[in-house]
Amino acid sequence: MPVSSPESHSTVLAAPGGSFLLEDRQPEEVFTPEDLSEEQQQIADTADRFAREQLLPAADRVEAKEPGVLRSLLVEAAELGFTAVDIPEQYGGLGLDKVTSALVADHLSSLASFSTSFGAHTGIGTLPIVWYGTEEQKQRYLPKLATAEWVAAYALSESTSGSDAMNIRTRATLSADGSEYILNGEKMWITNAGFADLFTVFAKLDGEHFSAFLVERTTAGLTIGKEEHKLGIRGSSTCPLILADCRIPKENLLGEIGKGHHIAFNILNVGRFKLGAACVGGARLAIEESIRYARERVAFGKPIAGFGLIQRKIARSVVHLFAAESMAYRTIGMMDAALATLPKDASPREMQKRIEEYAVECSILKVFGSEMLSLTADELVQIMGGYGYVEDYPAERFYRDARINRIFEGTNEINRMIITGWLMKRAMSGQLPLLAAIRKLMDELMQPPSFDAAAADQTPLAHERATLASLRKMTLLAAGTASERFLTALADQQEVMADLADCISAIFALESALLRTQKLLASGAATAELAGKICAVYAEEALATVESSARRVLAAANEGDALTLRMTVLRRFAKSTPIDSIRLSREIAQNCTDAGKYRF
Ligand SMILES: Cc1cc2nc3c(=O)[nH]c(=O)nc-3n(C[C@H](O)[C@H](O)[C@H](O)COP(=O)(O)OP(=O)(O)OC[C@H]3O[C@@H](n4cnc5c(N)ncnc54)[C@H](O)[C@@H]3O)c2cc1C
Repeated sequence: MPVSSPESHSTVLAAPGGSFLLEDRQPEEVFTPEDLSEEQQQIADTADRFAREQLLPAADRVEAKEPGVLRSLLVEAAELGFTAVDIPEQYGGLGLDKVTSALVADHLSSLASFSTSFGAHTGIGTLPIVWYGTEEQKQRYLPKLATAEWVAAYALSESTSGSDAMNIRTRATLSADGSEYILNGEKMWITNAGFADLFTVFAKLDGEHFSAFLVERTTAGLTIGKEEHKLGIRGSSTCPLILADCRIPKENLLGEIGKGHHIAFNILNVGRFKLGAACVGGARLAIEESIRYARERVAFGKPIAGFGLIQRKIARSVVHLFAAESMAYRTIGMMDAALATLPKDASPREMQKRIEEYAVECSILKVFGSEMLSLTADELVQIMGGYGYVEDYPAERFYRDARINRIFEGTNEINRMIITGWLMKRAMSGQLPLLAAIRKLMDELMQPPSFDAAAADQTPLAHERATLASLRKMTLLAAGTASERFLTALADQQEVMADLADCISAIFALESALLRTQKLLASGAATAELAGKICAVYAEEALATVESSARRVLAAANEGDALTLRMTVLRRFAKSTPIDSIRLSREIAQNCTDAGKYRF
């Protein structure tokens, strides 16, 4: 259902989750960073200033884990309201929209150790209580969490179960008089544990019923283990928890007995869109550093920014960032549009259901965003040569810090399984007309080729729109072939699932970048031409990615004549005259280098 934004005059559509795979959207139906309201823009500017003036100058002290520094930065962020964005007003929060929540994550990401701690506190630490807490729990904890007087943490992982989260060993039992739960077990890798005051701990009641419990730091029987020594985000706190006959009042059960997995997984879902947004902010900074250095460093008598191979690195980073940023704000805009139609007295559970609708988009943001950030940080190190490799410059830290994003909030392997698995499940249940679309495509294949209207289209971005249509067809062909061959055992074919996930992500990325560019063109923005070049370069890359992924899927699912036939069809879909992406990449890099930054 559409909701009008008075600032942007745009009508953002709460499109069904995953529908991008099959349906075209109009530019005015998607939210883009250019649609921020004045208030949202001010919040982003305040967050930028805070990052520049408070976070970056404290980087060395944070990274050295100087006692109290990270915590006091959280309190300073709280004074500006940043820790209160997702907390309803009646509990001392600001109750703002999800775009604002993502904006804050995006613009506070320049120091990854802080950003991780902030994300764990405001996201996975606080949201379980916002969504699942009783009235008493909300009143007791949320006002303190909103001001960062208390810091929150989320304790799911254990030494023997990370991805396999349902396999936790921590146990809870009800005391003989029924007044307390007694927790026993250990948790591992818990962000903020070194100083957090409140933990959402997941445990199985009587070894069976997966449940969530709120455990205060001072509870007898809770011990915090030693800080881990990590590759990156060294300034953030990561410790194990030991729960030895840890007794908590029975009122500290969070949600329902046996339903803890809903809490665990739904919260991670939101963690993923925030992580995607934080990766966008981190990459923006890495690109700025790349450009600054490339302009200053002279080799063979000229700034290295003038070399084609350096330009290619800058352009690749810019192209991927533009795609990730477009997807992130589009997704969050859909969430806000979905939430805006809820009645005022809707329960937090109903809110969470609306957000859950975009589970597949959140997983795409997580995977694409974290890999985009890794690429950007890697290119930064390479552009800086030897200087990129030593601790005196931020490139080395960016590179180390970027790595964790592919591991936590569900590893990228697990998220790739979620992307394809979730869409297939929706298709099977009839919520997404994927099977009908596959059947239609297969029928079309039996017909002789008809007049190609797309080829005659001379309007701006016509080539890229045609590429998007081809990506969809190739993906449907691959998905249809794989589901025919493997039926319900498709989930066991992990490589096929992951290849399909990459096809699906490329479609969402290209469509999001294209729709944003169409909006920029329509508004006459000075960056529209640059955005058009970015789309062209990304479309070329996406075509190659999807074609090679689809080839692998077809070969895994077919052989002999059947494979030959499907490959002929795939080649027909992939047929396209290449654009000159070398020239366009040079122009993209030149444009951003002249401006000294990522232009959007
Ligand atoms: C710095 C840091 C902070 C963290 N913060 C928190 C936190 O605050 N709270 C919390 O609860 N946890 C936290 N974690 C834990 C994190 O979420 C887990 O490390 C992550 O989920 C992976 O689990 P694992 O380490 O047990 O690896 P495993 O699950 O053992 O995975 C090992 C490898 O196998 C792959 N794999 C596993 N299962 C499958 C499968 N079915 N199919 C294909 N591949 C598979 C994985 O993708 C990975 O590549 C943190 C971890 C780190 C390092």
